[in-house]
Amino acid sequence: MASIAETSLDFAHVAHPSPTPAERRATVLADPGFGIAFSDHMVTIEWSEERGWHDAKVGPYGPITLDPATAVLHYAQEVFEGLKAYRHGDGSIALFRPEANAARFNASARRLAMPELPEELFLESVRQLVLTDRDWFPTIEGGSLYLRPFMFATEAFLGVRPAKQFKYMVIASPAGDYFKSGAPAVSIWISDYSRAAPGGTGAAKCGGNYAASLVPQAEAIARGHDQVVFLDAAERKWIEELGGMNLYFAFDDGSLITPPLSGTILPGITRDSLLTLAREEGLTVREERYSIDQWEADTRSGRLVECFACGTAAVVTSVGKVEGREHAFTVGSGGPGQLTMKLKDRLVSIQRGTAPDTHGWVKKIA
Ligand SMILES: *Cc1c(COP(=O)(O)O)cnc(C)c1O
Repeated sequence: MASIAETSLDFAHVAHPSPTPAERRATVLADPGFGIAFSDHMVTIEWSEERGWHDAKVGPYGPITLDPATAVLHYAQEVFEGLKAYRHGDGSIALFRPEANAARFNASARRLAMPELPEELFLESVRQLVLTDRDWFPTIEGGSLYLRPFMFATEAFLGVRPAKQFKYMVIASPAGDYFKSGAPAVSIWISDYSRAAPGGTGAAKCGGNYAASLVPQAEAIARGHDQVVFLDAAERKWIEELGGMNLYFAFDDGSLITPPLSGTILPGITRDSLLTLAREEGLTVREERYSIDQWEADTRSGRLVECFACGTAAVVTSVGKVEGREHAFTVGSGGPGQLTMKLKDRLVSIQRGTAPDTHGWVKKIA
């Protein structure tokens, strides 16, 4: 569908008139937290039915003005992505599998009745922002520049139908550890709520899914846990995923299970990368349904030795305590597992350029 004109859009560049003073930026970059601070610029590209994608721009980061009737504010027609840029030891800048983010962005867009963005334009938009704000990489160990591409309906119209006007944007946020303490293991609450139902939007990365997960997440926090785990909506039996991370279960016979992409789970790029890395480690990996009762039974018998959650923001994190209305158990030692740490190290080393990239996953952009 992408015409040549669309994929070769020229980006206008407007420098920030009063960029963050170097001293303040240095303070931020020494302890960025997650999702709190933003770089000086952002990308915007407009879409309309008549003109397709147009007006690509890297401009000053700042508020946007919306008509109160803007469709996204009423019907949540919005999709997003999340990926990281890494500064390697040799000073070069790399992205990890950004083509996979571009493809998933379009899969999400199709589900939300939104226009697709040519993959080259997605990649170019991210590249342009990172190069413009290349001074925004955290100076702390384990830091990265988190990139958030997103698209939403901008048409001012209250009728219920797909909008005819959209805005695509990319913002960048220097990032340290996603979990405050760099948590050794997260504690999770088994929610009575559902995140996604068959035929719903569970496989799309859209704001609406997150809106629906906030009450369950808040409930988990109120009960003293870090995260919430969702069971399938139909049988309330099969483990699906956390609010924003996929799950893996490791057994004492060297096998690994992760729930299959059945349409109600977000197809994580971290999940997919770990499928490959785990097989290279000689593990038998199966994409297979796994029930909550089995999880507890296998933990108690010692057959299940580790469990971990994975996603771009927090990479790989062990699951320790698990609790629900009918369940309470602790996986392994309750701390970070050996295999979990090994797989995390394998992945992070590739992302950070300290181990060879034998899969063509690392894309150097500078
Ligand atoms: C983004 C996301 C993930 C993880 O995907 P990655 O590509 O690994 O970052 C998992 N679950 C949900 C619900 C998500 O939104």
